[in-house]
Amino acid sequence: MTPGGRLDEVPAFTETEHAESRRQTPPVLRLCGPRGFCAGVDRAIQIVVLALKKYGAPVYVRHEIVHNRYVVEGLQNRGAVFIEELGEIPAADRGQPVVFSAHGVPKSVPADAKALNLFYLDATCPLVSKVHKQAMPHEKRGRHVILVGHRGHPEVIGTMGQLSAGAVTLVETESDVAKLAFPADAALGYVTQTTLSVDDTAGILSALDARYPAIAPPGAESICYATTNRQEAVKHAAPGCDLFLIVGAPNSSNSRRLVEVAERSGARRAALVQGAAEIDWAALGRPGVVGLSAGASAPEILVDEIVDAFRARFDVSVELAVTAEENEEFPVMRALRDVELTKADMAFLNGDRA
Ligand code: SF4
Repeated sequence: MTPGGRLDEVPAFTETEHAESRRQTPPVLRLCGPRGFCAGVDRAIQIVVLALKKYGAPVYVRHEIVHNRYVVEGLQNRGAVFIEELGEIPAADRGQPVVFSAHGVPKSVPADAKALNLFYLDATCPLVSKVHKQAMPHEKRGRHVILVGHRGHPEVIGTMGQLSAGAVTLVETESDVAKLAFPADAALGYVTQTTLSVDDTAGILSALDARYPAIAPPGAESICYATTNRQEAVKHAAPGCDLFLIVGAPNSSNSRRLVEVAERSGARRAALVQGAAEIDWAALGRPGVVGLSAGASAPEILVDEIVDAFRARFDVSVELAVTAEENEEFPVMRALRDVELTKADMAFLNGDRA
């Protein structure tokens, strides 16, 4: 799936154009691309859908497969059962598959699954696995690992769980860097969570470099292409927006970062909404320009609903703001490749799109 592929590119907006946009009637909906599902989220959902087709219900899923209630409820309706720990799987169902979420898991989870003789399918995004693989050589080379990320996020728990106890220190802010007690010549290496703010992370990494000039970077950028592209598109579209709506869940890290990016990049206000039902139409009044994007775990059907809700209330014109084309696709594991994935299988998220 290529979230941004259907949109036409528009040039950067000048200040004069912003002023003009605000005066325009009808209101303008400025739709970002890329937006919504990334390749890792698409793959993780496909794994659950295909597992249900191949093995039948129930298919257990450890943690929300991706951070989106609509997706989770859609899969529950098809027979997925969401759990937080493997021990929640009833003994009678231990022959059914259990899927690990896109965020990744500590090494102990597949080890526990093997000990319980469970059949597991690991839907960890390949770009999260890449971060795991970037962290491990640091430890092997005797470096203490600094992980830049958000405490308690499943991806951070999964990455920390690739290394020995005590091998990782989590840093969330520049002020956390200032509090680190390692000497300046300590053997350190760093990696980051995949869904961070590109700009905030640059500040944290500069602070790390300033305190620890010899700190070893990861082999490649840890923040993923989808996070970077969605933030870039919002940054481009935000100037001149009276309101910027980001479709996403409150526990979706990349969606929350998009709200921050919109606010910092010139939108007068930005809000996270899970769907059209959460828009406060009375407070909105008659908007001039409304930016619209979606986090990497938010299905396009929710964006469509919002566009339709605006069209039902205003004679709105839709303007496209595209900053990149995405063609990434991550194949599902071999065990599921013999099952056909049809358009109808994914229609609950994609509507009638391919
Ligand atoms: S946001 Fe990035 S790391 Fe997370 S699932 Fe999508 S592509 Fe993978």
